[in-house]
Amino acid sequence: MKAYLRKSHVLIAGCGIGGLAAALALLKRGYDVDVYEQAAELREVGAGVQLSVNGVRVLHELGVLPALQALACEAEGKEIRLWNSGQSWKLFEVGLESVEKYGFGHYLTYRSDLLAVLAEGVRREKPDAIHLNARCAGFEQSTIGVTLHFESGGAKHTATGDGLIGADGVHSRVRHGLFSDDKPEYTGMLSWRGVIPMEKLPARMRRMIGTNWVGPDGHVVHYPVHRGEYMNFNGIVEIEGWQVESWSAKGTYEECHACFKGWNDDIHGMIDNFSTPYKWALFAREPLTQWSVGRVTLLGDACHSMLPMLAQGAVMSLEDGYIVGRALEAAGGDVEQGWKRFEQARIARSTKVVVGSAENGKRFQSRTLGNSAETEAYVNREWTPEKVRARYGWLFSYDVISVAV
Ligand SMILES: Cc1cc2nc3c(=O)[nH]c(=O)nc-3n(C[C@H](O)[C@H](O)[C@H](O)COP(=O)(O)OP(=O)(O)OC[C@H]3O[C@@H](n4cnc5c(N)ncnc54)[C@H](O)[C@@H]3O)c2cc1C
Repeated sequence: MKAYLRKSHVLIAGCGIGGLAAALALLKRGYDVDVYEQAAELREVGAGVQLSVNGVRVLHELGVLPALQALACEAEGKEIRLWNSGQSWKLFEVGLESVEKYGFGHYLTYRSDLLAVLAEGVRREKPDAIHLNARCAGFEQSTIGVTLHFESGGAKHTATGDGLIGADGVHSRVRHGLFSDDKPEYTGMLSWRGVIPMEKLPARMRRMIGTNWVGPDGHVVHYPVHRGEYMNFNGIVEIEGWQVESWSAKGTYEECHACFKGWNDDIHGMIDNFSTPYKWALFAREPLTQWSVGRVTLLGDACHSMLPMLAQGAVMSLEDGYIVGRALEAAGGDVEQGWKRFEQARIARSTKVVVGSAENGKRFQSRTLGNSAETEAYVNREWTPEKVRARYGWLFSYDVISVAV
């Protein structure tokens, strides 16, 4: 095991993408870290995550990119398709163009692959850093440290450290402990997600391309994952009624088909071949204006959950994770100062992404697309190269290594 250079010991609640990235970034800078996860194993129900270049850069810096490259798909491009006719437009090149412009490509990953390579990286630095079956129930802090309380399977115990990071996702207990309850609002949108064995799809669909279907009251994003063995499908529709913010609620094939009535056969062909149709309601939260109190801070979805329409939630968690490591080092290992630096460096950018994600949602699903005479002009107008650059350039060019902290 490594000898730790500084005495700061950081506790992290939540072993998702953000918690693991933060753990790895801190361990690599010589801090001692323990990460606590409520689940019994690090497993995600099948789902994909797109990693744009700004997130890929973090993985490179953390030393886990080669391991992910062996499992992920590197996107050759992205395209827009029209919900009923299937007409397609090139959105942008993300392969060579991204590498030439920003240094890395755009990866289409299976969430469990991403978690596995991050966890492997953490365990390489500190083999016993990850504690499973450890549900954080609350914390208390004093001028000298933090105590984290767990409640799992009836047993209660505690851990102590110099600082705490709440990386415990959208229903964060740590956020609740800092700022009390948030007030999420149902967006009126339901998301269907499914994973399809690639061999079940026609050959013309088996491509290293990310596809965004746009429609009048919904949109669908699908892309290959896990070395191209599966197609990941995420379809969002406007619907009243279902309001359970859970990632693991199951729906039926009939319900899912009905939500996409009138959509192109390619959409229904994918739904027919889902391993399981999952559904969950999309909620929106006002971005927090403060993340840290004393020795405790938040990162990732715990403080800036967002709608998935810019595909940046996980990427922001990766950026947060890397920057929290830099911030603690810049503060000389002083946890309170480190968390302040981290928050100052990150809050404006992540708030801008929360707002931009909601705006992109309105673009992907617009009533104009219900009027076939206007659809082509709409797509040509909304996805000009200049507009696409303005929407994504500031995201992709962010450099976790050189940004001021
Ligand atoms: C439909 C959809 C598609 C998306 N697509 C993309 C995409 O393509 N690209 C992208 O960048 N982002 C995407 N996102 C967003 C992304 O999934 C999230 O932003 C990201 O997972 C947040 O990571 P996190 O580590 O902050 O939280 P989470 O991934 O939620 O991890 C939190 C962890 O904390 C654990 N936990 C929770 N409570 C406790 C507790 N009390 N004690 C201990 N452990 C606890 C959880 O079990 C979990 O392991 C998408 C989201 C959705 C809904």
